[in-house]
Amino acid sequence: MDYLAASFADVLAEWPVARVQAALAAADPGRVRRVLADGARTEADLAALLAPGAAPQLESLARRAASLTRQRFGHTVQFYAPLYVSNHCVNGCLYCGFNCRNRTARRRLTVAEAVREAEHLVGRGFRHLLLVAGEDPKGVPVDYFAELARALGHLVASLSIEIQPLGVAEYASLVQAGVDSLTIYQETYDPVAYARFHPSGPKRDFRWRLETPERGAQAGVAFLGIGALLGLADWRVDAFYVGLHARYLQRTCWRQHVSVSFPRMRRAAGALEPPCPVGDAELVQILCALRLFLPDAGMVLSTRESAALRDHLLPLGITRLSAGSRTAPGGYAEETEAENQFEVQDHRSLAEVMAAAQARGFDSVCKDWDPAYRTTTSDRSTAGR
Ligand code: SF4
Repeated sequence: MDYLAASFADVLAEWPVARVQAALAAADPGRVRRVLADGARTEADLAALLAPGAAPQLESLARRAASLTRQRFGHTVQFYAPLYVSNHCVNGCLYCGFNCRNRTARRRLTVAEAVREAEHLVGRGFRHLLLVAGEDPKGVPVDYFAELARALGHLVASLSIEIQPLGVAEYASLVQAGVDSLTIYQETYDPVAYARFHPSGPKRDFRWRLETPERGAQAGVAFLGIGALLGLADWRVDAFYVGLHARYLQRTCWRQHVSVSFPRMRRAAGALEPPCPVGDAELVQILCALRLFLPDAGMVLSTRESAALRDHLLPLGITRLSAGSRTAPGGYAEETEAENQFEVQDHRSLAEVMAAAQARGFDSVCKDWDPAYRTTTSDRSTAGR
């Protein structure tokens, strides 16, 4: 991979879908045994781990993934909660219940309502919150998120955002207001499939979205989260790109911590069924392949997955879990009629998920760094830029 490329878009241009498919088709199962012994270093190693030929070695991959995770992260798992602040959206993503064609009740929380939601979550024990919103740059502008960050900062140790892609100056204003983490999913890295599933709205701009983590890093965001929506397109191809993208960010945005997620498409009102469903064993293969290729990356698992599966996946590589999630604005502190973005599968409370993790020998952590550390990191990240 060319780490001197101007952006990951240039790396992607060197790896069109046909080349990735060819690498997967040519993958030698014997390479998996070598990777298990010597580590995953090259793109061919990653392709071998994701190829069908690796499936019979899944147990060995799982053991190696678990042992690498213990070496790098110990037995700690960190918890966070998504806080949905708005379901207004100007995009027409075919797979999402918030898409602009869907006739559903729309709501943007006031700052006071968002604070009430946050207080509710803090009361349950959460200290890391992820602000989630549909994309409506005019109706839900960056100043709104800055105001939220300033209002919530004293309540929590870490504030993340999963909102529309922004420019460097806008991210810098959010860092200034107290945001430390940015999550952005490319959904699919296949440009043809991307165009098909994003028929309208600013999200059609594939490259602007692709380069979002780099702009966030430039602005001093300390933690970058990426991923693909599994089920939209060929999962082996998209998982390959997630691995490439994460490793590129680790090498080029070396002050930032990079994490990956592997959300599977879930049913949602007014949205299409997954065109390329991903089975449980395939999800395990993705998780193990990415852990072997990215030993230092955080790995996030949301309540899209069932309780039983989350408990089984936890030891294999997961470093961060959500719990007790509601995926509609106002979903925690009040009964809401608003449509959920997707159907949650794990309905356990934070206490129940923590107890399950502890029963498997994990230390459950709701706050794993101080805001003082965050300030220092952000200062370092912006220095010299
Ligand atoms: S995925 Fe995001 S951008 Fe697309 S419709 Fe849903 S909320 Fe809007």
